[in-house]
Amino acid sequence: MFNSLSDRLNDTFDRLRGKGKLTEADITSAMRDIRMALLEADVNFKVVKDFVAKTKERCLTAEVMDSLTPAQNVVKIVLDELVELLGSTESKLVLSSRIPNVIMLVGLQGSGKTTAAVKLAYLLKKQGKSPLLAACDVYRPAAADQLATLGGEIGVPVFRGDGAHPIEIAQGAVREAVDKMRDVVIVDTAGRLQIDEQMMQEAVDIKRAVKPDQVLMVVDAMTGQDIVNVVSTFAERTDFDGVIISKLDGDARGGGALSVRAVTGKPIKFVSMGEKPDSLEVFSPDRMAKRILG
Ligand code: GDP
Repeated sequence: MFNSLSDRLNDTFDRLRGKGKLTEADITSAMRDIRMALLEADVNFKVVKDFVAKTKERCLTAEVMDSLTPAQNVVKIVLDELVELLGSTESKLVLSSRIPNVIMLVGLQGSGKTTAAVKLAYLLKKQGKSPLLAACDVYRPAAADQLATLGGEIGVPVFRGDGAHPIEIAQGAVREAVDKMRDVVIVDTAGRLQIDEQMMQEAVDIKRAVKPDQVLMVVDAMTGQDIVNVVSTFAERTDFDGVIISKLDGDARGGGALSVRAVTGKPIKFVSMGEKPDSLEVFSPDRMAKRILG
């Protein structure tokens, strides 16, 4: 992911480095290149506009322009602004003192919710927790089976409540967790390929019924420009506390993932980098920004 964005940005930086002393026109031209590179990577238009305006303003100071290595300072400013765009600091998942903690995952179908639920369970298990997965996606016939299989692979039980309504399954899972001394319930909810009212209402109803400590939205890094619409609608309807970006190992342009924090104001908590259970990483804005700059 971000390969072509990285290449474009590095070409811009190389051109600047080749010049020695920089003029305002050099900065303007570099900012135009950066704007194009971000737009072509599918970063949201407004996010790009703000990013470039802030970066340009910081670059055009005497401190940068009159310095001995102006190009290096520009690179540093772009890096800083990328870190800022991505949320500046790590935002770890904090569990409350309530037992069981309930973490609910929302998102579109295919976004990677079920996979993320399993990875999160695996991560928590490694931290000494005893999670329980709740299979509330009753519409995609294979979803509960998929969860049961993956849960089995990592040794985490799955509450299925076959035939029951998703709200009852979520509530049943919480009761089961109390009975069986499981301290975290991870609720995998249903998604649709596109936002639809019934899906949204169901997520709202499950949330009301089990009062999750955390709602995490799973967002596919390959979503592109439509990501803004998707995350804004979820933010409005179900609200959420943080984001898991999935499929960051893919080769799409990835700019949607860069827009999420700025558009929702919610922290990115994890990134998912593959299909294996151990491929969920705590998100680090710094690491991601450095990865983008190559
Ligand atoms: P859900 O409908 O939101 O529950 O989505 P799934 O968890 O079933 O994921 C949809 C597809 O994306 C599956 O084929 C997953 O194996 C795949 N997937 C999920 N997360 C990742 C990831 O981080 N990287 C890759 N490469 N594939 C993923």
